[in-house]
Amino acid sequence: MAADNIEDPEAFRQRARSWIRSNLELMDRSVLAAALGGGASEETELAGIRREREIQRMFFDAGFAGICMPREYGGQGLTPAHQRAFNEELAGYEFPHRLQAPNFSPCAAVILDFGTEEQKRRHIPAILKGEELWMQLLSEPGGGSDVAAAQTTAVRDGDEWVLNGSKIWTTGAWWSDWGLCLARTNWDVPKHRGLTVFIFPLHREGVDVHRIEMLNGSKEFCQEFLTDLRVPDTDRVGEVDEGWTVGVRWMFHERMLYNSPLVTLPPGARFTPGSGSPADVARDAGVLADSHVRDLIGEARVLDIAGRELQQRIAQGVRSGRISDQGAAIARLFGGVAGARTRTIEFEIAGAMGGAWTDDDGAAAGLGVDFLMRQAACIGGGTTEMARNVISERVLGMPRERSSDRDVPFREVPRGPSAGARSR
Ligand SMILES: Cc1cc2nc3c(=O)[nH]c(=O)nc-3n(C[C@H](O)[C@H](O)[C@H](O)COP(=O)(O)OP(=O)(O)OC[C@H]3O[C@@H](n4cnc5c(N)ncnc54)[C@H](O)[C@@H]3O)c2cc1C
Repeated sequence: MAADNIEDPEAFRQRARSWIRSNLELMDRSVLAAALGGGASEETELAGIRREREIQRMFFDAGFAGICMPREYGGQGLTPAHQRAFNEELAGYEFPHRLQAPNFSPCAAVILDFGTEEQKRRHIPAILKGEELWMQLLSEPGGGSDVAAAQTTAVRDGDEWVLNGSKIWTTGAWWSDWGLCLARTNWDVPKHRGLTVFIFPLHREGVDVHRIEMLNGSKEFCQEFLTDLRVPDTDRVGEVDEGWTVGVRWMFHERMLYNSPLVTLPPGARFTPGSGSPADVARDAGVLADSHVRDLIGEARVLDIAGRELQQRIAQGVRSGRISDQGAAIARLFGGVAGARTRTIEFEIAGAMGGAWTDDDGAAAGLGVDFLMRQAACIGGGTTEMARNVISERVLGMPRERSSDRDVPFREVPRGPSAGARSR
């Protein structure tokens, strides 16, 4: 132990290495690819989630859960250097990848930042043990980019709030337990000033979770319909009508996902589809010797290294106060653009296998689907267009986009017919 009672990172690394090697299986890449691509059957997917909860519990019991979370809520109270060491030692092994985003970040991060003491003591240990899995309910059918224009309504009734409305594109809500939800509590003030954040269990009276089937057969996305959902005031996060303050931090945690000290993610792993690295694809497609392919592998490698360095630099800048929270949009933009380009590179390397493949094609299998889904990296977590807006306006200080609703009571902002009906 070091003088301040914090385990030396190198000793921690050795302890993590030996525990990982004795307790975890090697990662089966095809299982991971099917899970991330949403192509697995319902039973397989639920079994996968059960296994991930089990691993999370093993992390907890062995003292590796919540490495950077406070000890009083079940975490280890260690540093980002310890989390990085753990991530590096995990490379190649199974880990609870679907329990990371948005469960640990942004959801647990937001509870830690804004939750009451009771909320933290109730939920953070449960999240760390894999007993509670959280999803974020931000986007609405009327649009997801303009988060502050949320129309899901919460009306106070004594010690409770009554929520009505709909959220959409919630990844994995059907296998999750709790939701973090942004709702409108005041229609008589401009949009940013009338929002409040609530938490509630996803499978209870008043919440209907519908799965959405996409063209590729994935049913990962969900839409939730909230009908007279009663939420106790003790399940409000942050102050009434101050939800935008919570929301801004929420989006910061989402944009910094890949460098969050709360997230366990081995180097090279990601949350979007793809079964291996471009070099793996080239090897399994039999084109590793091709000079053009080697150029493409090099390009993808540079994007990967630059992305990781950028994330770390921004995270350090934000921690030291040199860069504002809004700088996280730079990392988000780069992550989206580089992710889409890397999927394109993998597709190109795969050649004909990118259009037709069998399970024996290894890392070259399924890349046609990943290619078609590549834009997801530029949309999920807020679009890259919105990130560009934040960078120009909030980081570079350029003139703000014209807005007709900024100073108008939200009730008076023109909306579509269905939205109007809900607001009355
Ligand atoms: C993989 C994935 C996972 C997701 N998971 C979740 C989740 O768990 N929870 C959740 O709540 N949501 C989730 N989403 C939804 C996501 O947050 C929204 O799709 C996203 O914020 C965009 O919202 P929208 O689709 O309604 O598009 P819109 O807001 O309707 O935008 C349409 C287009 O217009 C552009 N645009 C809009 N306004 C501007 C502007 N002011 N300036 C420039 N361009 C603009 C957008 O960039 C976009 O290209 C997920 C999406 C994906 C792809």
